[in-house]
Amino acid sequence: MKQTMPIDGKFELMTLPYAPDALAPVISAETLGFHHGKHLNAYVTNLNAALPGSGMEGKSLEEVVLNAQGGMLNNAGQILNHNLYFSQFRAPRADNAPAGRLAQAIDEEFGSFEAFKEAFAKAGATLFGSGWAWLSANAEGKLVITQEPNAANPIQHSLRPLMTMDVWEHAYYLDYQNRRPDHLAALWQIIDWDVVAARYEE
Ligand code: MN
Repeated sequence: MKQTMPIDGKFELMTLPYAPDALAPVISAETLGFHHGKHLNAYVTNLNAALPGSGMEGKSLEEVVLNAQGGMLNNAGQILNHNLYFSQFRAPRADNAPAGRLAQAIDEEFGSFEAFKEAFAKAGATLFGSGWAWLSANAEGKLVITQEPNAANPIQHSLRPLMTMDVWEHAYYLDYQNRRPDHLAALWQIIDWDVVAARYEE
């Protein structure tokens, strides 16, 4: 997994690889504006403020997630989670599905892409409170779906994160209010499977 390094002692707010309205109507420009520009930006600001004197200066974001505790771990975890989340989307497509070796691995592990989507949606819908549903690969390349509470990331269990859905209310409340399952179902239209496949092939 690529490491995210600080620049001049600070982590930067990631740049979105698409226009603010590119994911609409699945994720509105308004939601994206708050989620990326306010929520993620606050995690970046908070982590940078906590770095001096912490012993984590100069370490990669991933190393901070693996070694920090308390508020520093929460802010670093949320930056890593959101960087993976926001960089895995593209404009909506009706027939959006993985291809190649990743598609094969999904079929082998879950039976079919439809069965995988069902299992993943269940993981997202049944996660109590705030957190993240993840598709990851283990050391042998086997695919696994996990639920991570709050700011946790699969690298904390030696898994390689491939794809994620944010189930914190801030990810969907402006567009879907309490309808978390509807939001998760819509996200399949905007998953950039080329990005997910590249993470799988790394
Ligand atoms: Mn979020």
